[in-house]
Amino acid sequence: MADKDGRNSPGQRTLAVHAGEEPDPHTGASAPNIVMSSTFVLDEPVGFSAYDIPEEAPYIYSRWSNPTVRQLEDKLATLEQAQACRCFASGMAATAAVLFSLLKSGDRLVISDANYPGTAELARNDLARMGIEVVAANFSDLDAIERAITPATRLVWGETPANPTMRLTDIAAVAAIAHQHGARLAIDSTFATPIATQPITLGADYVIHSLTKYCCGHGDAMGGAVLASEENIQAVATAGQIHFGGVISPFNAWLINRGLATLPIRMQAHQDNAMALARYLEAHPQVDRVFYPGLPSHPHHELACRQMDNFSGMLSFRVSDGPAMSRQMMAQLQVIHYAVSLGHHRSLICWLGTDDLMASSYHLSDEQLAAYREFAGDGVFRLSVGLEDPEDLSADLARVLG
Ligand SMILES: *Cc1c(COP(=O)(O)O)cnc(C)c1O
Repeated sequence: MADKDGRNSPGQRTLAVHAGEEPDPHTGASAPNIVMSSTFVLDEPVGFSAYDIPEEAPYIYSRWSNPTVRQLEDKLATLEQAQACRCFASGMAATAAVLFSLLKSGDRLVISDANYPGTAELARNDLARMGIEVVAANFSDLDAIERAITPATRLVWGETPANPTMRLTDIAAVAAIAHQHGARLAIDSTFATPIATQPITLGADYVIHSLTKYCCGHGDAMGGAVLASEENIQAVATAGQIHFGGVISPFNAWLINRGLATLPIRMQAHQDNAMALARYLEAHPQVDRVFYPGLPSHPHHELACRQMDNFSGMLSFRVSDGPAMSRQMMAQLQVIHYAVSLGHHRSLICWLGTDDLMASSYHLSDEQLAAYREFAGDGVFRLSVGLEDPEDLSADLARVLG
């Protein structure tokens, strides 16, 4: 890849392996060390306030910053083409850090009417309890978003592809609408990963990841990240990270950093497997509908081609009696795990019933409910297609689909 001055800049696979890392200057170790220390020996006096940490501060205390966590943050920032990154103990810790750092009583949050249920519940229950007005809109409908924005709107929060239907949001278009009205745009890009989409380059102000998913990739460490400009990250770093305190363990940061090295090649394999399974399911007589951004039948396929460099490994599908089939899956699947979460090397599947999700998380009615049901019907199976042989995955699904 040549940059604008004609110099060769490293490609994504090289950056995923090397960004943020260098051999240990003391031992020459090629792989990163894990620095578990919670405090650091000082050679000059420092203040105790999170508000006046100098730009080039040494490491002081691991809730403020830690060398192993810093490596992960530097690698993520490079992959996302963002100036700054802060990591957290989970995706929800990252989400809460952004929402509670940026919003105050009287502000309005415009949020996607379908997204990660934890985010939906945090917004509708906890933010509302603190006097923040939360308005949900269909984030595949630009007019609906614009109608929901008022002068009090400080933040617009989207997720693309969105849980659990794989509905897409046009990030550049929503960024333009948000900015016209003086609001910031945050995008939960967990399903896309920095390999598929770099929302900052499309105009988003904040990008949020659950690192627990594709970035870790192996289902053995939880983490979250927020990416933004140096200026926009400040509030999240001071209140969200240092004061709310949901920081990531250096051990988990080290595991996730290791996972990131293979993210580009894993995403390629996830996409290839998901495409094979999506085609298999679409042709299966027991399957009513399949939603995969890479399929021409996906209602937002054209946007997917424009906005995503990789269609990811997440798909959802409908059958006539999901609850009965989910019990069959729990009993009969031998390769795919019936479990929540996603983005692991193992394939994972779970049923998300529409009535349950409406009652617990989304509370949609009328037009919004109708638009949701157009995708999800009574519910969908959400399949996170792993890295196994695709023939073994379709054979496993055939145990229950026939
Ligand atoms: C899992 C997930 C989260 C929450 O992340 P945790 O690491 O489980 O806290 C947020 N958003 C999306 C899209 C997710 O899939």
